[in-house]
Amino acid sequence: GRTVHQIQSGQVIVDLCSVVKELVENSLDAEATAIEIRFRNNGLDSIEVQDNGVGIASENYETIALKHYTSKLSHYDDLSSLQTFGFRGEALSSLCALSKFHITTARVDEAPKGTRLDFETSGKLKGTQVIASQKGTTVAVEDLFRNLPVRRRELEKNIKREYGKVLGVLQAYACISTQARISVSNVMAKGKKAVVFATKSSQSTRENIANVFGAKTLLGLVALDLSFEMQPTKTYSQLSEPENKQVRVLGHISRPVFGEGRHAPDRQMFFVNSRPCGLPQVTKVFNEVYKSYNISQSPFIFANIVLDTNAYDVNVSPDKRTIFLHEQNALLEGLRVSLVELFEKQGQ
Ligand code: ADP
Ligand code: MG
Repeated sequence: GRTVHQIQSGQVIVDLCSVVKELVENSLDAEATAIEIRFRNNGLDSIEVQDNGVGIASENYETIALKHYTSKLSHYDDLSSLQTFGFRGEALSSLCALSKFHITTARVDEAPKGTRLDFETSGKLKGTQVIASQKGTTVAVEDLFRNLPVRRRELEKNIKREYGKVLGVLQAYACISTQARISVSNVMAKGKKAVVFATKSSQSTRENIANVFGAKTLLGLVALDLSFEMQPTKTYSQLSEPENKQVRVLGHISRPVFGEGRHAPDRQMFFVNSRPCGLPQVTKVFNEVYKSYNISQSPFIFANIVLDTNAYDVNVSPDKRTIFLHEQNALLEGLRVSLVELFEKQGQ
């Protein structure tokens, strides 16, 4: 029982990044408008994610961290048109198995009182305690991988790189989130707290980028707004055919004029319907087009691909990192053509 639970948990929570990603997505799903991520010792000692979202209802305390408990999916059909980030109910249960874990939460009618929830490694509720709390939820993860010695040693050895990767992911959430301000801090062993970055309540991704990367960054950027249709390919399956093949790519990119993109830090962030994700093939198209115009080896790219929810699948890997685009080739080709058009126009 217990060992199996730990092994399976290790598939959802594979590293520091997955912890942070799952917790931030839970906060966004809870309709938070402010999210604070606090690291201690780069996350080695603890990671806390505090939000001002709806909180957890007391009737759910018992079930919240049990495996496969989710409040977000009522029908299997929902999977195809998923609006929330979470739907598997595995993150909290996994974190119970892999760390010292607790939650404090308060619904709006309960604050300034709230409840601290402690759990067994199985996810079973161990105890509750009334404490002072603002509206919202704080999830605390201490001593990640404490009971998986090999994984823990790996984490300790690679913590600098892992922490850097986490910041990259958080930058992406902070830049795309216009409904929630996101702040990140880190306290090192010596006790000095550093605010890493903080976005403000803002209506635009542009403002977010300025707050995350510095106002100067905007000087090197232009708005990206491409529209094209995915042309059907030979392998097209009638079954998975999206009703709408229209694609829009929105965002901000290094100005495609030689030399003028120099203010941009080399940062590349990709999203599908505002969901941050790694898209190696899409990344390649952008970089190749820049390269073919001899502009920049590492342009700044913030690109949100807006498309029909039936045109992709997030349900392929336990950690939901991989997005499977049904018509990837058609999308890449459309993207390449419209990008080149944009560059030609800019060059005139
Ligand atoms: P999932 O997100 O897939 O539902 P999780 O294990 O991440 O699964 O979370 C389990 C449940 O705990 C969620 O469905 C939600 O009801 C609740 N929950 C988790 N985090 C929060 C939060 N920050 N605010 C409110 N509810 C939360
Ligand atoms: Mg979740």
